[in-house]
Amino acid sequence: MSLNTTIKLSYPEPDVALLTLDDPAKGANILSRSVLEELTTHLDTLEQRTDLAGLVICSAKPGIFIAGADIREFVAAGGLTKAETIAVATRGRTLFQRLARLPFPSVAAIGGICVGGGAELAVWCDRRLMADDPKTQIGFPEVKLGLFPGWGGTARAPRIVGLGNAVEMITGGESIDSRTAFAMGLATDVVPSDRLLLAAFSLVRAERKSGDYLRDRERWSKPIAMSATELAFLGATASAYIQQQTKGQYPAPLAALNLMLETSQLSAEAACQREVEAFSELFGTPVNRALLNVFFLTDRNKKDAGIDNRAIVPRPIKSVGVVGAGIMGSGIAAACLRRELPVTITDSRPESLALGVRKAVEETAFDKAARGPTAERILKFAPLIREVANEAEFARCDLIIEAIVENEPLKREFHMRLESHLPEITILASNTSCISIGRLAEGLQRPERFCGIHFFNPVRRMPLVEVIRGPRTSDETVATAVAFAKALGKSPIVVEDGPGFLVNRLLFPYMNETLELLTAGLSIKAIDGAAKSFGMPMGPITLYDVVGLDTALFAGRVMVEAFPDRFLSPPLLDAMVQAGRLGQKSRAGFFVYRDKSDRGDPDPAFDALLAQHRGPPQKIDPETAALRLFLPMLLEATRVLAEKKVRDPRDVDLGLIFGIGFPAFKGGLLFWADTVGTPKIVEMLKPFESLGERYHATPLLLELAADRRGFYDLIKQAKP
Ligand code: NAD
Repeated sequence: MSLNTTIKLSYPEPDVALLTLDDPAKGANILSRSVLEELTTHLDTLEQRTDLAGLVICSAKPGIFIAGADIREFVAAGGLTKAETIAVATRGRTLFQRLARLPFPSVAAIGGICVGGGAELAVWCDRRLMADDPKTQIGFPEVKLGLFPGWGGTARAPRIVGLGNAVEMITGGESIDSRTAFAMGLATDVVPSDRLLLAAFSLVRAERKSGDYLRDRERWSKPIAMSATELAFLGATASAYIQQQTKGQYPAPLAALNLMLETSQLSAEAACQREVEAFSELFGTPVNRALLNVFFLTDRNKKDAGIDNRAIVPRPIKSVGVVGAGIMGSGIAAACLRRELPVTITDSRPESLALGVRKAVEETAFDKAARGPTAERILKFAPLIREVANEAEFARCDLIIEAIVENEPLKREFHMRLESHLPEITILASNTSCISIGRLAEGLQRPERFCGIHFFNPVRRMPLVEVIRGPRTSDETVATAVAFAKALGKSPIVVEDGPGFLVNRLLFPYMNETLELLTAGLSIKAIDGAAKSFGMPMGPITLYDVVGLDTALFAGRVMVEAFPDRFLSPPLLDAMVQAGRLGQKSRAGFFVYRDKSDRGDPDPAFDALLAQHRGPPQKIDPETAALRLFLPMLLEATRVLAEKKVRDPRDVDLGLIFGIGFPAFKGGLLFWADTVGTPKIVEMLKPFESLGERYHATPLLLELAADRRGFYDLIKQAKP
């Protein structure tokens, strides 16, 4: 037996075989080609053992049963032909089918995460027992990679749990817990984790005796009994829901639905064969490749410590201080409380402090099932937050985040005062959106312990955090800020100090161009529509109203001042702010907001204002409008790379996906540019050159295009 063996075959009791998965080289059990080969060998042995009561499959990894197929092998296989894809998928599925044909019952004893290929292996077993703990979950997340299960999952799952349940699981891609799995018949029983194996041994013996599993094998090999009316109803409701969710930009869920509707009326064997054919249509498509890229971006981010020097260890953060209990401060406090990190909080206005604390506790105590905060949760979290009036009270915090108003002198003065109360090791961070971290650090005694930790609004929903490294910030401070953000469940990227940091710097050209298009005669509907057709969750005009036009104007001035060669302060924005049209917060911006609704209506008063800023109307088609919006963003990204504002091009893509909702099905801004091709991007810019510097190809883009290389080639170049 080789040292790298993942699956061990044992006989804990003379009549029961046990396959235990435990990959010694990885934190999770992954179904790689070599692991599947091990399973093949074990099944060769087990198929001969007609004397056994049954087989149990379990994992020895805490919290993980099987985390899925090996996605890196998938990518390596990206160049497979359709026939090769079908052959590879068929090999995996016929292997799993052997579990359902053993001369005795098979039971998956699931403790921990069981997803993707792992869930497929589990559904090919005769029975599934699940541990009664919150970590134990089962699901088919393949649609998140632009695929659906390809090892028989779409054929087998509906036959076990019913077509409606299987459609929901497979097209939605969300995992379910043990109790939900039990309620839908996916789990035979839910048992305490420490009794999982013994319960599984009893179950195989009971099944062997009753022969029930043989009746189910027979039943699950046939078409699903459903009337044409039931099928049509399910098809219509599910497809309407999927189309509303995916907006036609993610093909996999609809393809999975159509496949399952069709194959529900076939034998399981025929359904499996249709599955591989349909799977091969999705595998390797641009959306599949883009979503795989997003998977790798996220995976890399999880492992990235934020600094290259691995010898530096982040400081443990056991208590957090928050200064400013407004929108951001209370959101940051809630994020800490949710992870049971004690928070000390203050605000210069007592009423703001009381309100901020109440909001933070209520947010943390929110219970999904109760649809509101519960008394039990309030009692759990409220004691973790401490309101203070005196800055000396922050001396016991390991990390303090300042989230007071965006005003440089105020922030500087406050930081200096606070620092005098703090021990040397305390880290001080600002949540500033656009003030230079270097300038904020100028008056500090310990600038090495100061950085930016830029959360996005609303903190609860936005996964991105920018950790801003000032010119004197130490590696230890950066590593600690990164580890802290991860402990809150966020995805931090490290950005060098500079105007707009990363996300706002890249967002600005896009937002700026929106106003150019508007004054050039394009309608609000056409501009928002162009961005949404490209895949953005919200159009930029609507976004202006959500963010607030005064905030946009202020942030814009920072950018215009920093990059006067390519940006101008748009007079329309100034005029709107002067007219008190600040967006949703003032109930009028580009739209007017009636009653309490956040849905804006067209406003003739705005049209009158706009008319004063419009030149002769130009004809701009939707595709051109989309390029006008995204090319300046891409060019700015090339400057960010050239200036080494981020450590890796992948940070740009992750930052935009998590920070502004850049479409995941395009894989990220730079990934999208690579898909188009850098030489083609240079060509696409040419018709816009007369618009000015903001459309001129940058030296980095020209260099890559000349070598016919892409942005992701810079990664390969950095790590030979
Ligand atoms: P806010 O106005 O909601 O809250 C600021 C709070 O700070 C107020 O309650 C105010 O009373 C308090 N305050 C002001 N001066 C103080 C002082 N000297 N000491 C203690 N408390 C003081 O503002 P916000 O939206 O939460 O923004 C806070 C910071 O976060 C700003 O730097 C802002 O740029 C940044 N930010 C905001 C957003 C956003 O979308 N709102 C997003 C990212 C970052």
